Amino acid sequence: MGTTVVAVTTPRYRCDACGNLTRFDVTVSQRTKAFYHFTVGGDLVVEDEEVLMRDVDEVVCRWCGHGRGVVEIAEEDAESDTPSKAS
Ligand SMILES: [Zn+2]
Repeated sequence: MGTTVVAVTTPRYRCDACGNLTRFDVTVSQRTKAFYHFTVGGDLVVEDEEVLMRDVDEVVCRWCGHGRGVVEIAEEDAESDTPSKAS
C-alpha cells in the first residue's frame, strides 16, 4: 500500500558535461486517474492509479546545476557502454 508503480518506461540519462549517470532533478508533468477510496473516518486509499499523460519538462544534472549537457540514453546504448569518438 502506498507504492505507486509507474508503468511508463523511464529513459536513463547521462550528463555529457561531467559524466554523471545517477543523479538528476527531473521535473515531470503527469495526469493520472485513480480510484479514491475514503474510509468513513476520512482516511484515503488511492487504488488503480493510471497514468494518462506523462511529460518530462526538465532534466537537470545534480552536479552541474543545469541540464545543458544532459542527454537521454537508449537502453541499447546503456548496455554496450562503448564511448564512440568516430568524428
Ligand atoms: Zn553534469
